[in-house]
Amino acid sequence: MTTATQAAPDEATLTALTDEIRAYVQSDGERWAQRIELERRVPMELWDELRERGYLRLAAPVQYGGRGIPFTRYLPLLELFAMSHASLRMIVHVCNGIWRPMDSHATDEQRERFVLPLIAGEIKVAFTLTEPTAGTGADLRASVVREGDTYYLSGEKHLITFGTIADYLLLFARVEGTRGAEGTVALMVPPRGEGVTANEMPETMGVRGTDHGHLIFDRAPVPVASRLGAEGDGLGVALSGFLAPSRISVAMTCVGLAQRALDLALEYAKQRETFGKPIAKRQAIAFKLAEMVTDIQAARALTMQSAHQWEAEGGANAESAMAKLFASEMLQRVTDGALQVHGGVGYWSSSPIERVYRDARAQRFEEGTAEIQKTTIARDLLS
Ligand SMILES: Cc1cc2nc3c(=O)[nH]c(=O)nc-3n(C[C@H](O)[C@H](O)[C@H](O)COP(=O)(O)OP(=O)(O)OC[C@H]3O[C@@H](n4cnc5c(N)ncnc54)[C@H](O)[C@@H]3O)c2cc1C
Repeated sequence: MTTATQAAPDEATLTALTDEIRAYVQSDGERWAQRIELERRVPMELWDELRERGYLRLAAPVQYGGRGIPFTRYLPLLELFAMSHASLRMIVHVCNGIWRPMDSHATDEQRERFVLPLIAGEIKVAFTLTEPTAGTGADLRASVVREGDTYYLSGEKHLITFGTIADYLLLFARVEGTRGAEGTVALMVPPRGEGVTANEMPETMGVRGTDHGHLIFDRAPVPVASRLGAEGDGLGVALSGFLAPSRISVAMTCVGLAQRALDLALEYAKQRETFGKPIAKRQAIAFKLAEMVTDIQAARALTMQSAHQWEAEGGANAESAMAKLFASEMLQRVTDGALQVHGGVGYWSSSPIERVYRDARAQRFEEGTAEIQKTTIARDLLS
């Protein structure tokens, strides 16, 4: 659950906003997509435009400068953004979510320094957990040693979205010598400065144009005042209040991208004729489309069910993992089916389904793989 109360916008405002975002995604969103694919770079003007339109503070509380849209009402808007280019979806998803873990453990002073500027779009923050030589979660190797009011950070992080362009990394490490969740810390660390080497990783299969950072820390000084929560709270910041809504959000982005794939497949199947008939009239194709829409509806329903549970009661650990697991595997089935409906021409970059297919693959890694979601679900089931 969010830590601050929200004044929800009224129905008329939400309906108007939904129409506005749908139109934006279909017009400007497509223009940005073409430019990003061509230049292989997300222009800073896109960040500025999204900020000016208020799309980066949709889900944040009104008293923090956000638009106060409750989580379950925000998700259908996120679904629309996910029908656009994956880099645009990534900016909207991260900015509308990363304030939550920061806020959950911030002091008033840290809220002023980090949370409010983030919501205002004045700073960018990258979620920095994954390491090349360790597993996800408690298997952290990046470590800090405290000397007076300063931590000295050493270790390595990679695959970090916005890792080189961010103003701060929300970074998870451990106090040297500790094990498990004990001694883990969450720190706000600038990706530039003494002891930090930040390199952009090679180009990705999909989500083109978004930078992903590989960061090496060699006794990088970080003020103790930049630690969110206490020593030992690090994994709590990373996983507790943030993980369920984040998994649910990624699940909804899978629904949005799958819907886009279905829309493209439907359009193509109605106009492509073989042997004198549109392929949509062939039962083989019509059944495939029917399976796709059923899959999408099921994922949307499961995602919204877990969102309602989280909004009402918090928790939803296993339910959010189920939503993420099902939606990401559904996305794989649907995008594969949609590409098949397009025939060989769909394999070419001149066809819009080609990008959708590539972008979809990333969703199976974000917020934990299927194997990790199954581990969470099984643990809950067997407990
Ligand atoms: C586009 C993209 C953006 C990303 N952005 C970020 C970001 O902003 N910040 C960030 O911190 N990370 C980010 N990541 C990293 C992502 O969170 C990880 O890739 C993901 O959590 C998997 O971790 P890994 O890559 O270390 O895989 P590994 O842990 O090396 O896993 C390899 C394989 O083994 C399986 N596996 C691993 N451990 C177990 C286990 N204990 N039991 C069973 N199976 C297991 C995994 O499921 C996977 O199939 C991003 C990844 C992608 C693709």
